Amino acid sequence: MERSYVIKPELGKNYPVISHGKGIYLYDTEGKQYIDGCSGAVTVSIGHAVDEVVEAMYAQAKEVSFAYRSHFSSDAVEKLGAKLAEWAPGSLNWTFFVSSGSEATETAQKIAIQYWQERGKPTKSRIISRWMSYHGITMGALSMSGHVLRRKRFVPLLEDYPAITGPYPYRKPEGMSLEEYGLACANELETAILRVGPDQVAAFIAEPVIGATAGAVVPPDGYFQRIREICDKYDVLFIADEVMTGIGRTGKAFGVDHWGVVPDMITLGKGMSSGYTPMAATIVSEEIIETIANGSGLIMAGHTYSANPQSAAVSLAVLNYVEKHQLIEKSAEQGAYLLQRLQELATELPLVGDARGLGMLCGLEFVKNKQTKEPFALSENVSGKVIAKAFEKGLLVYPAVGGIEGVAGDSVILAPPLTITKEQIDELISLLKAAIESVQQELQEKALIG
Ligand code: PMP
Repeated sequence: MERSYVIKPELGKNYPVISHGKGIYLYDTEGKQYIDGCSGAVTVSIGHAVDEVVEAMYAQAKEVSFAYRSHFSSDAVEKLGAKLAEWAPGSLNWTFFVSSGSEATETAQKIAIQYWQERGKPTKSRIISRWMSYHGITMGALSMSGHVLRRKRFVPLLEDYPAITGPYPYRKPEGMSLEEYGLACANELETAILRVGPDQVAAFIAEPVIGATAGAVVPPDGYFQRIREICDKYDVLFIADEVMTGIGRTGKAFGVDHWGVVPDMITLGKGMSSGYTPMAATIVSEEIIETIANGSGLIMAGHTYSANPQSAAVSLAVLNYVEKHQLIEKSAEQGAYLLQRLQELATELPLVGDARGLGMLCGLEFVKNKQTKEPFALSENVSGKVIAKAFEKGLLVYPAVGGIEGVAGDSVILAPPLTITKEQIDELISLLKAAIESVQQELQEKALIG
């Protein structure tokens, strides 16, 4: 290729050029095939080049792609809003549309703060979040994120929000049952609220399954039920960040559905449009919308591309496709098989400390020593090595390494399109196994692994 003027994630590295995709496969311009083992960035949930979505995209573009939300609504956006109200639990009936997960979580942050202002409680403006969490890259979203690597350079610009520990079953203290551990972690929220003062706290935000910082960490049953109780007790809104877990990824429509918990807001992105166009959303309860409607009547959020008809038509086609092909049920079924195969790798391979997941959102954690669970130093970049080796072999895997140095090992996420078949999962596993074995051998030669 001629000289590139595009800023890429790793400067100086050569990236292959994408040519096309179909289903779970991607092809570069050299003709190399890749299994999309992580749906890009846990995004392409229904697979690549689905005709129904392409047709919906074309049909909408032929009519009108963009009409500004302050002037018009559109048929596509109204239908999508109604569909999300149908899918979402409780009274989460109102959706504010944006274009990225970061915009969705930052919109939730702003709506939470505005809600308490409208109720005459302007001091309730701080958001509690968790270490080992990722809610986005914009400053507001990053202020709520415990992604140590991404925060590092910007700490002086970030809000000094309180953070609590998220449940991490693989590393729970000895002698505690899973249930006790989950409750102890949830109770940290109460301690944090009391320390800061309930009159200062607007909301608590959490990913139902921890994604980008720790690799599909599933909380113990009971954790989110207790979180809901604590939020209710202290008048704190609960925001479920479902940017990664939403729209069937974990085998239910939303991650929180596994525990029957109804948040006050849900944020969506990624799988919502399956990557066909940028699309994300903040779903809000009736109570919040009524309060704002009866107060100022104006939502202080929004972007140029919010609620554009083109992205709405695509997202609607994606949700219809998920329903028509029962992809939520498939995510649960095939995800269980994927997890079983990953657990086999964890039993067989010394490098793999843990295999975990929910539905089609699974992760592997790499450790120096399986008995002691000793993590690698982040500078070893073990997950980076596995990802590079898998890429070489034609398998895409997503990194999950923003955890806390010395506390968490490094992890990868396996989250293929929800359409993947059993045979294709076997194909994925054999490439993954070969990649891990190759890195493992390299580490054994350097005596870096126990
Ligand atoms: N929240 C969660 C849970 C995420 O996983 C991500 C993306 N990894 C975001 C927010 C940010 O989304 P985006 O990159 O689209 O801004």
